[in-house]
Amino acid sequence: MTSQEPQQASRSRARSLDAHLSRYAARTAGMTASEIRALFSVASRPEVVSLAGGMPNLSALPMESLAGEVARLVADEGQVAFQYGSAQGVPELREQITEVMALEGISAHPDDVVVTVGSQMALDTVTRIFCDPGDVVLAEAPSYVGALGSFTAYQAEVVHVAMDEAGLIPEALRAALDSVQAAGRRVKFLYTIPNFHNPAGVTLAVSRRAEVLDICARHGVLVIEDNPYGLLGFDDQIYPALRSMDAENVVYLGSFSKTFASGLRVGWALAPHAVREKLVLASESATLCPPTFNQFLVSRYLSTHDWKGQVKKYREVYRERRDAMLSALEQHLPDGCTWTRPDGGFYVWLTVPEGIDTKAMLPRAITQRVAYVSGTAFHANGFGSRQMRLSFCYPTPERIQEGVRRLGGVLQDELEL
Ligand code: PMP
Repeated sequence: MTSQEPQQASRSRARSLDAHLSRYAARTAGMTASEIRALFSVASRPEVVSLAGGMPNLSALPMESLAGEVARLVADEGQVAFQYGSAQGVPELREQITEVMALEGISAHPDDVVVTVGSQMALDTVTRIFCDPGDVVLAEAPSYVGALGSFTAYQAEVVHVAMDEAGLIPEALRAALDSVQAAGRRVKFLYTIPNFHNPAGVTLAVSRRAEVLDICARHGVLVIEDNPYGLLGFDDQIYPALRSMDAENVVYLGSFSKTFASGLRVGWALAPHAVREKLVLASESATLCPPTFNQFLVSRYLSTHDWKGQVKKYREVYRERRDAMLSALEQHLPDGCTWTRPDGGFYVWLTVPEGIDTKAMLPRAITQRVAYVSGTAFHANGFGSRQMRLSFCYPTPERIQEGVRRLGGVLQDELEL
């Protein structure tokens, strides 16, 4: 080998990379790695207490009895369960999904349910069928990072709407709609997470729900209600879904990721009739059909297991961890920090004293063996640098205590800099 050969090889690699970059569609500019993904490898080192990821805690799942269910599914229904299925999803499961949604006051027909590969896929598909480049989507400030990823991938512009401890603020919604529409821009939908918000940890007050729906209907704007945590209220409370109050103007997204098993990737959309047809077509072009085997398994699980009892167990697991986090925050965080007190779900939203930038602080926190997600990840506009999301879903209560203790130390050091 001559000494020029490695140089030539690296020049030709660079040329081929340039060629690929120039071939990408314009929309890929909006596809960037989320801060959470970038954090994943450091945060999963055993010495780091990760308060960053939102992984469900599967410690309470009855693995042995599920193993039996999987074996029976293969033996009894393998020929169909291993086969392609309908693009809209297995009919029996769609029927059962309507029963799950009935717990939140929703009355729906199985024909209007579209099973998807997790609710993430439903989010992506809804955005794909509604958004042209430059369309405006309204989302709470902060909002779910995976939704923001889909919106920017389809080149929609996200306009954030303020929340307080009772969720989305109706006056702020009205003002955002008026100002976007006055500027001649088209708002395609409001994306909202009414219950146990990711990442804010707050719930939309029931007294605000009708008003939010009314404002959207008056402005001709569809509502996308994303509700993966709705059954995880720590006091067994279940709030009425927005979809239960307005069947015409709401697309409801649900998921078995938090109530059963996220790895199965089974979620759904419940859409007004006209929207449902396009959703099925778009979904079919992306995946042909959602995974048949997993749908059969979820369906059998719902009919043979005490799934409501299992949801109760999940609530207990998360409630214990929420309590551990709130008491650790009280104990270890310096003055000037404030945080939300979630009554369900996975997350606390923390605001730190002025002058601290949570994104800049993160490498120092990792050095002190604690990880979180900076608030900037949950905004499309660079805001959120005084906030962070803390997840209490996965670590043990002891690890949560220790993680928050370390975080308190890092914040104290920042204040003394
Ligand atoms: N929406 C929200 C608010 C979420 O927190 C998540 C998962 N973290 C999803 C949607 C996607 O869930 P899945 O695709 O697993 O159903």
